[in-house]
Amino acid sequence: MGRIREKIEQGRTLVMGLGKSGLAAVRFLLAQGADVAVSEYGAREDISPEISGWLDSEKVFAEFGGHSAELFSRVDLIIVSPGVPLDLPVLREAGEADIEIIGELGLAGEYLQTPVLAVTGTNGKTTVTTMITRLLRAGGKKVFMGGNIGTPLAEYLLGPQGADIAVLEVSSFQLDTAGDFRPDLGVLLNITPDHLERYDSFDCYAEAKLKIFSAQKPEDRMLVNIDDREIVSRLAAGNFFGEQYFFGKYLSGSYGAEYRDNEIILRLPTGEESYPLPFLLSSSPNRENCLAAVSAARLMDCSPAGISSGLVEFAPLPHRLARVADINGVRYVNDSKATNIGAVQAALESMDRPVILIAGGRGKGGGYQSLRQVVAERVKKILLIGEAQAEMAAAFADLTMVEECVTLEAAVRQAGQSAEKGDVVLLSPACASFDQFSGYEERGRVFEREISLIKELGRKQVA
Ligand code: ADP
Repeated sequence: MGRIREKIEQGRTLVMGLGKSGLAAVRFLLAQGADVAVSEYGAREDISPEISGWLDSEKVFAEFGGHSAELFSRVDLIIVSPGVPLDLPVLREAGEADIEIIGELGLAGEYLQTPVLAVTGTNGKTTVTTMITRLLRAGGKKVFMGGNIGTPLAEYLLGPQGADIAVLEVSSFQLDTAGDFRPDLGVLLNITPDHLERYDSFDCYAEAKLKIFSAQKPEDRMLVNIDDREIVSRLAAGNFFGEQYFFGKYLSGSYGAEYRDNEIILRLPTGEESYPLPFLLSSSPNRENCLAAVSAARLMDCSPAGISSGLVEFAPLPHRLARVADINGVRYVNDSKATNIGAVQAALESMDRPVILIAGGRGKGGGYQSLRQVVAERVKKILLIGEAQAEMAAAFADLTMVEECVTLEAAVRQAGQSAEKGDVVLLSPACASFDQFSGYEERGRVFEREISLIKELGRKQVA
């Protein structure tokens, strides 16, 4: 029996946070016969009476309206829900007292019986996790898709675990609390600066991502972006044991996937295979995402026919470089999910027209210097919004035209007036949205709504 399982079955476990995932964890732990307590920040009145009645009927000790150090000090294991910040004082104190803190991956590490493919990286996780799932399903596999996306893992653990493969999107936050989680195939899409407000340095952030490989054994596999080969070997210092595969532009003899013209070439120990790259996915960053997805699906034994048909049917996901409209020769692209500089870099590199860039919001720390070159090359005007506008204006004002518009609505109107035939208006903010929106989806929806107003106005003028 693993260390964590022993604590669950013989000690006392505290579940922190009563969201969907926390609740599923409580149900799962009760099914294991564990002694469980709950700590929820929200007030009891804010939890549905059904749930609090159920906790009472199960005799689960539950505290609401905050987290008490006293309760935290009396348990053997703490399970945090995704999104709970690990630097909360109660968690820091528990950590100092050697009380183990895990998240849903740590729990899965002990109880998951289905083969696991896990995807991490700074950008592209949702896209690639979805893509891999579609390829595998097209190949006839039964897939559970979860982790940071879809159904909570604990919910899957509670059921018959009937999938052939669990495909999990995992964030660096989840990897921080992954316990002995060990994927059969771990995929690292890319590492570029992000969340530097939360990690002490870029290396600390990269180390969190590399935890995806740290419990692997020689029979497991790792799939890594060839551009990150150096940082992986520098930070891993020989501590990784999985079989290595790569993807990227030039593999220089390694196993994995590269592209040549409009083909994906897969080099495996069993021989070489090729797959046509669909036009919709043929530019960066989706081209790289396809390389990762095709290699991963094939390494999990997906049929070549499944891969080919799954690829053809895949369309980019909403708010991720999604083409919204072409109005009077101006293209509008919604990349609201680009909340860090790596995503904006990839977005700008994929543009083959002059760009009017709408950016800004809540900065993530780490600055914007690394975008200067691509901005100088591709951007004819930047329209800024939100808290970061002054800092961003200072970073780019000597390179291109910059205007501080404060709101997204004003920025889109300004873009509509300045754009000329052949331009692209790109919302790719390089920042989080929470200073002005509930999330990237709302930001993207407001962008699209403003564009439909421009379209409407154009129609009226013609009429
Ligand atoms: P994540 O789940 O990691 O946030 P998403 O698939 O939701 O990734 O995409 C987030 C942002 O990153 C979008 O702006 C998207 O266009 C961009 N992106 C997608 N794949 C990549 C990649 N391989 N490299 C850089 N940026 C990417």
